[in-house]
Amino acid sequence: MRRNRRVKLIATLGPASSPPEMMERLFLAGVDVFRVNMSHASHELARNLVFNVRTLSKKYGCPIGILADLQGPKFRLGEFGGGRVMVPSGSHFTFDRDEVGGTQDRVFLPHPQIFEAVEPGHMLLLDDGKLRMRVLEARSDRISAEVVVGGPLASRKGISLPDTILPVGPLTEKDQSDLNCAIDLGADWIALSFVQRGQDVEDARKLITTDTAVMVKVEKPSAIDDLEAIVAAADGFMVARGDLGVEMPVERVPGLQKRITRMARAAGKPVVVATQMLESMITSPVPTRAEVSDVATAVFDGADAVMLSAESAVGQYPVEAIQMMDRIAIQVESDPSYSSLVHATEVQSQPTAHDAIAAAASAVADTVKLAAIVCFTATGSTALRVARERPGLPVIGLTPVHATAQRLTIVWGIHAILTSDPDRIQDMVNKACKLSMEHGFVKPGDGILVTAGVPFGSAGTTNMIRIAYVDESGTAYGDG
Ligand code: PEP
Repeated sequence: MRRNRRVKLIATLGPASSPPEMMERLFLAGVDVFRVNMSHASHELARNLVFNVRTLSKKYGCPIGILADLQGPKFRLGEFGGGRVMVPSGSHFTFDRDEVGGTQDRVFLPHPQIFEAVEPGHMLLLDDGKLRMRVLEARSDRISAEVVVGGPLASRKGISLPDTILPVGPLTEKDQSDLNCAIDLGADWIALSFVQRGQDVEDARKLITTDTAVMVKVEKPSAIDDLEAIVAAADGFMVARGDLGVEMPVERVPGLQKRITRMARAAGKPVVVATQMLESMITSPVPTRAEVSDVATAVFDGADAVMLSAESAVGQYPVEAIQMMDRIAIQVESDPSYSSLVHATEVQSQPTAHDAIAAAASAVADTVKLAAIVCFTATGSTALRVARERPGLPVIGLTPVHATAQRLTIVWGIHAILTSDPDRIQDMVNKACKLSMEHGFVKPGDGILVTAGVPFGSAGTTNMIRIAYVDESGTAYGDG
């Protein structure tokens, strides 16, 4: 399935998008990756969803990515007697270890780690930041706070602690069980929520026995403080603007989005911009102008993918929302200012053969006016490096590895095709020409640039660049 854009589209699955026929409509409308939100999906549901995505992928002979998003350490209040109270601004409120039903003055907090770590002056955000409290006194069994912004508060609402580094790892017991399920099901990407530091990623990776790629959702102030370590440790990133905008002042989110996008691109790792992109399309068939502009900004910044959350999970117009993202992306990528804006981020090549070949491939293809760059890739690494250059022509990743093709579906500009490894150079060139033509990227007379590693079939050996021209039958008629 050839897309007419470089940025990729992710749709979160939910009741509005889970029926197989709706998934198919979404795929045909432009979805490259489906996100399974493990906060809401039982293991049985996850199994069905993954099965349906893989069935769709087989039907169309095209890789489709699966991103399994773990809930992470999410903290919740205990119960209020009567279910809900009104907490006035300016009053005092206490969190304690007493399980008896809460009142407008106090509530049970079933998380001993919070009592250990919180300090006077730290902010406590309740119910997605609708209520705000400042800690006055913190003891091992009781936290007293002044209510800065009050309001109604119900049982089991979430509590966020933007100033507090909590003594918890990135994976709860539920996450570990969900992680095992996602790995068993063959998810291509695992997203970790509420990561606090780079070490969390290293710790989580020890529990992942396969080479499943790890995406960090950047949504905590402490993660922003340790961004360099996180960028070094993870395989990809999500600007999780929902929780980021709760834990930090919302006006900081746009700047952080740009910073995370730039750092990820410089590292040659995919970055996804997520949450409220077309929020009004949950209930309306058309977006607001501001939402269109928001999606366009992410595309102009060179993000790898943009994501729908509630719009596709529970919205009334999931297909229209994906079609809208597709149209915005196509329009932005053909805008006269796109090339200069997307190349405003400087990418510094590392002293590796992959980087050198990727930079050279992009420069050669531009100079000689070729029609596509074709990368034979086992792990996806060369294709990622080429995509990092954001070249102005299609990048085709040829791989014999299903997992690689599926993992690359999230990456800017890469059209992944499954094929066997070539056995000699002429076979390599012919295969590259034939598949580029079959998939509609070239026509007879066009030239392509091929990168590969010799000896064929061994990972991490990319060491050659070849130019070839396509003849009428889709094979190479000359190379140089
Ligand atoms: C977010 O907070 O922006 C996000 C994507 O995470 P979730 O949907 O899991 O809240």
